[in-house]
Amino acid sequence: MTVRVRYAPSPTGHLHIGGVRTALFNYLYARHNQGQFILRFEDTDLDRNVAGAEEEMLKGFKWLGFEWEEGPDRGGPFGPYRCTQRLDIYRDRLEKLKGQDQAYPCFCTSEELEEDRQRALAEGRMPRYSGRCRHLSESERREKMERGLPYNWRFAIPAGIPLEFEDDIRGQVHFESDDIGDFVIVKSNGLPTYNFQVVLDDALMEITHVIRGEEHLSNTPRQLLIYRALGYQPPKFAHLPQVLNEDRKKLSKRDPNVLPVHSYRERGYLSEALVNFLALLGWSPGGEEEIMSLDEIAQQFSLDRVGKSGAVFDVGKLNWMSGQYMKRKDLPDVTEMVAQDLERQGVSLPLGRDREWLETVTGLYQEQMTCAADFAALAKGFFQPDIDWSDEAREVIQQEGAEAVIRRYRELTQEDTQAWTAAASKARFKRVQKELGVKGRGLFMPVRAALTGEVHGPDLQQTVACLPKEWVLARLDEALHLTSAAQ
Ligand code: GLU
Repeated sequence: MTVRVRYAPSPTGHLHIGGVRTALFNYLYARHNQGQFILRFEDTDLDRNVAGAEEEMLKGFKWLGFEWEEGPDRGGPFGPYRCTQRLDIYRDRLEKLKGQDQAYPCFCTSEELEEDRQRALAEGRMPRYSGRCRHLSESERREKMERGLPYNWRFAIPAGIPLEFEDDIRGQVHFESDDIGDFVIVKSNGLPTYNFQVVLDDALMEITHVIRGEEHLSNTPRQLLIYRALGYQPPKFAHLPQVLNEDRKKLSKRDPNVLPVHSYRERGYLSEALVNFLALLGWSPGGEEEIMSLDEIAQQFSLDRVGKSGAVFDVGKLNWMSGQYMKRKDLPDVTEMVAQDLERQGVSLPLGRDREWLETVTGLYQEQMTCAADFAALAKGFFQPDIDWSDEAREVIQQEGAEAVIRRYRELTQEDTQAWTAAASKARFKRVQKELGVKGRGLFMPVRAALTGEVHGPDLQQTVACLPKEWVLARLDEALHLTSAAQ
């Protein structure tokens, strides 16, 4: 049997972390089992569809490195892969259920249904459809239809059916048909509801494993009833644990710490890092090593190692992991990402600076970056003449002995006629050291603080060499004012 899995998003907005995690686990499952991964857009809730969402999702999956054998963009033998293009299929199967007396028209208005619901709640019962329209006679139905009353089609749930299945993650799950109210399968506008559509699509697309979020667990018994009524073999199910925020609450799409996928892409995160991080949201590898490529993860992936309890989205871990990937990336590639990000942020290179310069400055910060967008803030001092000093930097500049060092380094810099290089800066420091008898922190720190506004940072000589000489002189002057102002 060829494993066939699918990811079936509704194009109702951005691609979010929870959805990508589900897509990823399906993709990994397919790859691990030499199976097929299918994309399908479940777009039958017309009011919620958002223009452009499909394109954004496809772009997101491509960026993440997923590949799909069949999908709305590339077709396939079981298409179409967009539900609104499959309406004939749903209509046809509704006819079949009607013929079996398993579907009936329901004329209840939303006010009536709401009243029923409130009554049930007040009486301490679980709200579910009362079955009022199920018991209408043929002539009552005809009369209502003739009056032109709008109606939905409901599925007539058979009584006394145990609904059991073995969930590949949660183990044995048990529901009873008696606990489920007759649910709507086709709405008055002729469109199917999710619980009806999804069964027909999964069955006809020969999906073997449905791997999806835990929020769908309670839908599964309804879907099993449809499989049963239409004589289809249900697939295997696996319900993934929820993604939680750091307070262990269900992650909201609006959580300020978690971005939609396109924002990670735009901010220059490495897709490999995001994929690696998402794979660990619920799944754990056999060994200790957590940094793994998509291929390595696919090789190891199994549902046995997916936990049942919620998986916390740890922003610190994402950034740590992204940093790890950033460090390992070739400098020219990181530079290209930085260049793109600067363009996005509308930052141009300082006058006379070229790609080579940008690469050197990028190299100075590569270790500290989690994404390309970090660069502009980290390297701000290379793009504008003025800097702000941190409190620590001010303290260093005002320490005893700092002024003499800054002053002498400045004089030597001004006099220096050699090429403007890191080696030349190093030679100037050597002279200051010799002449003033200071070394180590006392030598470098005051100049670093004066030139960068910080007490920590990348290689100082390289930093000097990447700054224009006029800026270096001006910053040293400013710092000298600070030392004399302090006296
Ligand atoms: N369209 C559904 C969703 O986005 C799919 C659920 C399923 O995988 O069955 O939640």
